[in-house]
Amino acid sequence: MSESAGIAYCNRRYMPVDEATIPILDPAFTKSDVVFDAVSVWDGAFFRLDDHLARFHDSCDTIRVTPPVSDDEIRQIMAQCVDRAGFANSVIYILCTRGRYAGGIAFGDPRTAENEFIAYAVPYYWIVPKDRVETGAHLWIAETRRAPDAAINQRAKNFNRMDLTRAQFEALDAGADAPVLLSTDGFITEGPGFNVWIVRDGQVVTPGDNLLEGITRRTVFDLCAMAGLEAATADLTAEDLRGANEVFLSSTGGGVIPVTRVSDQAVANGAPGLTTGRLSDLYWRKRAEGWLTTPVADLLQPEVAEAASAE
Ligand code: PLP
Repeated sequence: MSESAGIAYCNRRYMPVDEATIPILDPAFTKSDVVFDAVSVWDGAFFRLDDHLARFHDSCDTIRVTPPVSDDEIRQIMAQCVDRAGFANSVIYILCTRGRYAGGIAFGDPRTAENEFIAYAVPYYWIVPKDRVETGAHLWIAETRRAPDAAINQRAKNFNRMDLTRAQFEALDAGADAPVLLSTDGFITEGPGFNVWIVRDGQVVTPGDNLLEGITRRTVFDLCAMAGLEAATADLTAEDLRGANEVFLSSTGGGVIPVTRVSDQAVANGAPGLTTGRLSDLYWRKRAEGWLTTPVADLLQPEVAEAASAE
């Protein structure tokens, strides 16, 4: 793994990620008025890049921002960030911020703002400690509820995360790895950085409402179809989670991750589930085979790199 902490594209130039900043009066900071997406690169290849870009545009439309760059430019910037950082395995963030309002003040008419685009590549990470991918994660059912879609459309990938962070404190204080949040209606939604699944009676089930529709979640549906497994969405309660045969997470940060403990209770016999293992193996095998992948090298335009080295 490279020593680099990452490379960012910010204010229309590339820089070490630690040097990338936004003005404190930018509504992205003062109001979390920003949407984003996170795409993984493994072994030098993006996964489902166009699906992530499509979701990014949906998020932008939801909050009414328009990236001031074309999709071809976004692909180029993402590839440049990974390449300049020297990462074989990475997560690349793309953000569209509201940008400063007319006159540069921190309040006003959001329609006057000049939207900005930021990207950065950081080393690949797992949303739970990496050894849990083998041994199984400890998930905590938090008291804090997920902000309802009627207030914040969770299908738009956003940074309004006070609920997720409060829940994370609950989980960590309890000695668990990560929280899962119920909706205000009492149904399982998701956790910080992942969707949640159960296996019961041979069926693979995930919630359908009040959550981000993860690209990995979509991938799990695809993998289930390939593996001949029945998959569906359903309202799930905390009891459904506790009583499941298997529980797992799906995320760009780790793929398919087994859960072996939910709050104070082991899931089934306390070992990672067989269906979970099958889906996780298939996830990484299909990626290695090049399924829905785009090599970073195929996107790199030499003239962009040359222009940068002349800067
Ligand atoms: N839910 C939330 C709140 C997330 O932030 C994420 C990813 O960051 C996910 C679910 C999983 O989505 P994906 O599979 O696209 O990584």
